[in-house]
Amino acid sequence: MFTVPQLPYGYDALEPHFDAKTMEIHHTKHHQTYVDKLNAALKDAPELLQKDVEALLRDFENVPEAVKTAVKNHGGGHANHSLFWTILSATPSEPSEALASAITKLCGNLETFKEHFTNAAVNHFGSGWAWLVANQDQSLEIISLPNQDSPLLQGRIPIMGLDVWEHAYYLKYQNKRPEYLMAFWNVLNWAEVSRRFEAIQR
Ligand code: MN
Repeated sequence: MFTVPQLPYGYDALEPHFDAKTMEIHHTKHHQTYVDKLNAALKDAPELLQKDVEALLRDFENVPEAVKTAVKNHGGGHANHSLFWTILSATPSEPSEALASAITKLCGNLETFKEHFTNAAVNHFGSGWAWLVANQDQSLEIISLPNQDSPLLQGRIPIMGLDVWEHAYYLKYQNKRPEYLMAFWNVLNWAEVSRRFEAIQR
């Protein structure tokens, strides 16, 4: 069975940028629902329930047709949120030297990178996520994907993801998605993003 991972910080840890109520509902209701629905959908496929959710998404072509949609939506929701919690932190950090150099190569400098990533998130129509992904040739790319589609479905590795579903920001920011995006940079755990980036360089 899949379970929601505990947050590595309290619900109020990211105040005032991400408010406690949103964090609590997001974690205990939204993420929990993806996990519950994934478990329910796979109840007759115990071998899939034992897999790591990221492995399940990477191997999507071998997921039985009957549960493909559930794995894409709820498995994606579980994997995406599990990553999201880890790349948030109340403790400021900076990109590692290796990541900073890759970002410079991609966008020229960190400020432009933030601008491009923010644009991908602002301009994404409807629900979805903005992503920094590593392609199969290890090149980095900023993309947005709809709904809970995981980059893993496309053979890409998610390095950093930002949830732009309204449930991620509506209580505090209402329709002002750009303000939520500005707040994101204040709570981004660059140390963890750097660790994820360096893990795929090996
Ligand atoms: Mn969410």
